[in-house]
This record gives sequence, structure tokens and C-alpha cells, in this order.
Amino acid sequence: MTKRKTYNQRKREQKIRRAICAVIGILLVFVAAIVVYVNFGNSDVREQEGMSRYARSQVSDIKVFRSRDTKLSKCYTDEHIGVASYDDDCEYDYVNAQKDYYIDELKKELVEDGQYKVLLTNAVTCESSRNTVSLLITYQTGQLKNKEVTNIKRGVKGYIFNKKTQDSIGWHQLFKENYQDELKATLGEGYTDYKAYVVDKEELTYFFVDKKYNITASEINADKSSDWMRDKVLERYVDPNKPMVALTYDDGPGLKSETRIHDVLEKYDGVATFFYSGYMVKGKEYQIKRSLHNNCEIGSHTWNHPLLTRCSKKELRKQLNKTNRVIEAACGSGPTVFRPSYGATNDKINKKAALPVILWNIDTQDWKSKDANKIYKKVVKNKKLDGSIVLMHSIYDSTAKATEKIVPWLHEHGYQMVTVSELIKAKTGKDPVKSKVYTDMR
Ligand code: ZN
Repeated sequence: MTKRKTYNQRKREQKIRRAICAVIGILLVFVAAIVVYVNFGNSDVREQEGMSRYARSQVSDIKVFRSRDTKLSKCYTDEHIGVASYDDDCEYDYVNAQKDYYIDELKKELVEDGQYKVLLTNAVTCESSRNTVSLLITYQTGQLKNKEVTNIKRGVKGYIFNKKTQDSIGWHQLFKENYQDELKATLGEGYTDYKAYVVDKEELTYFFVDKKYNITASEINADKSSDWMRDKVLERYVDPNKPMVALTYDDGPGLKSETRIHDVLEKYDGVATFFYSGYMVKGKEYQIKRSLHNNCEIGSHTWNHPLLTRCSKKELRKQLNKTNRVIEAACGSGPTVFRPSYGATNDKINKKAALPVILWNIDTQDWKSKDANKIYKKVVKNKKLDGSIVLMHSIYDSTAKATEKIVPWLHEHGYQMVTVSELIKAKTGKDPVKSKVYTDMR
């Protein structure tokens, strides 16, 4: 016998059903809101404020790097690293070569870091009417755990090349002196936090990465560009009338310390001279390549740091030739300057070196103190800094730390950071002379 429900029972059940429906409805709306937020609310680069049309069109490629993108997991390979495709090759072979080079460097950097195992990159190029080609690389990294990619971070790097000479160029070649003020006025106080910039036509676009690893872009108005952009971008520009300093680093290539030195030089568009020891090169060829790509000068510092004044003729020849060969093999061109170990040299050695011989006038004694503050003070407290050649070593963390203070200080105080050859040329009007000894250009 089936029990018949009373009117009240039916009414109560109806109420419960309605309540359940309402709860489910609310839950559905809530879940939908979360889905919408995760998918669209979180940092679509194209919806960021202040994005220009140009930036939108360029940066739209970053969109594939959204954190929920499945491409990243597909990218996983046995080596725990993968590279996504990038846009069609541009018409300049050297830019394509640079693109491959910088992506390789990025892979090394991220693998070395040990933390990020998966990498996606995308690269776009754009030309300006000032004979430059810009390369913008966006990338995404993550950790792979149980076939899930977590801890995803996005980054961006920008490079600008001289279309004619194919050299990479920095801000002081592109821009006039008032450019920093212009930049500050346009981008506001946070302008130094930019991670990359590119030039397209007359426009200049800056890219920022926020704490949540979203990439945003900000553009400087094209109308005023001739006020602060140079008309011709031919070679590295050094103003002979402005103060300059040649930072030099011996005994490398170093590992992380040298990477830090390159990073801060790159950030402030400074260059330095690296005197490499031949026996140190193996496995660190990428540092020499980076020096070359960043317009730094590459010097020889003998094969394994002997006191050359006590070497036999044969040994001297070996110390010089073997080092030249290993540097050339690493980056495609040999050293352009020479620094004898311990600064110990004589006429015979200078003649055999067959390169300008570079000593120094500011000895930071960084190898001895290993104290970043002391090293920093040795440079910035110097009364006659203009024209100086500063001796440091790229193999110490303390020197890297000091450089991270010295470079911004020099930049802020109006010093141009130049290579030793640029210093000599700017101060004498002539190229450095083979076998001649230079200690400073003050
Ligand atoms: Zn040395």
C-alpha cells in the first residue's frame, strides 16, 4: 500500500526542491563567475590600460602564453624544455640569426637557473625608419610536476639592431641626451622598471612585467620623436665632450657573477671590456658571445695567468696564441686588446701581443677585499674619474654586487660607460695603437 502524501507534506517537499534549485543556481552563477575571471579577468595583455594600438598589435602574440594555455604542457619534452614556434622569419638573415641566438641564450639562462624547466618563446620583429630592426621576445616558464605545469611566469626581452652594421644598439645611440627626461615625463616615476623596449616607425614602446607576471606596454608619442631620437643610428655613439669611464673585468669568463655584470650593464646601456683567460673559456662561451652582442670589448688575459716576464719565448707565444684561438672559436672574432696577467709586461711582450696593451689607473682590489661597498667606493670616490680605466674581476659575486651599484651611479652622474678602445678613440681622436701601453685617458 502506498502512503498518500498530505497537502502539507507536498508543500514542504516543493519548498525544499525550490531551495535546492536556488542553491544550485547560485552555485552555478558563482562557478561561471570564477571561470570568466580566470579566463578573461586576469591580465589579458590587450585589455591593459595604456596599451597603444601598436603595442596591441605586437603584444597580441603574448596571448598564447596565458597561464591556462595547453601549449605549455604540450611543449614538454624529455629534456624538460621546449620552444614554441615564433613568427615567420623576417627578411634579414642576421636578425633571424640573432633571434636564434637570443632564444638559445634564454634557454640556457632558464635551465641554469634550475628552477624553470619549461619554456615557450615567441619573437616578433619590427623596423623603424631610422635604420633599426627591433626584436621582441616574449617567453613563459613553468615547473612541471606530475604532468602539470605550475608556477608560470612571463617575461619579455627586447633588442634593437642597426640595419646596416648589424650591431646591436643601445639607448644612447638611439636617443639624444634629453631622452631620459622625456621618458620619465611620459612613463612616470616607475619608468626604470621596464624590461624591454622596441622601436617601430617613429614610435617607441616600453614593456613592463608586473608582480603577477602580466606584461604591459607603454608607448612614447611619435610626434615629438625627432626632439629626442637621433636621426642617424650608425655606430655606437660616444660623446667626446661628456665624461666617460672604461670598466674592465679580468680573469673570466665567470659564471653567475659575470651574468649579473652583463645584466646591469645591459639595463643601463653600458659597455665594459672583458679580459678573458683562455683556460676559463670552456663551457662559458656563452658569456663571450654575450659580451660581443652587447657591444662590450673582448680582450686577452693570457691562457692561465703566468708572470709573462718570466716566461720563455715559446711559452709566451703559447700563452698569446692559444688564448686568441679559443676566444675566436667561442664568438667568431679574436680579442682586440691585451692585458698581461698581474699587469707585468715589457717591450718584448707588448710587441709579441700585437694588440693595444691595457693596464689601469683605478685598482679596486676587488679580489682582495671581496667587499662590494669597498669596491664601489674605490670607483665613485675617485676625484678624477673621467677617462679612467677601472680594474675588476668578473669571477666574484662581491664584484657583481659592486657593479650593480657602480653602473647605476655612473649612469646617474652622467658618465658614459665605454670600452677601452672607445675611451682611447674618444680622448685621442685615433684608434688605439698596437703594442702601445695605456693606463688611463685622464
Ligand atoms: Zn688577472
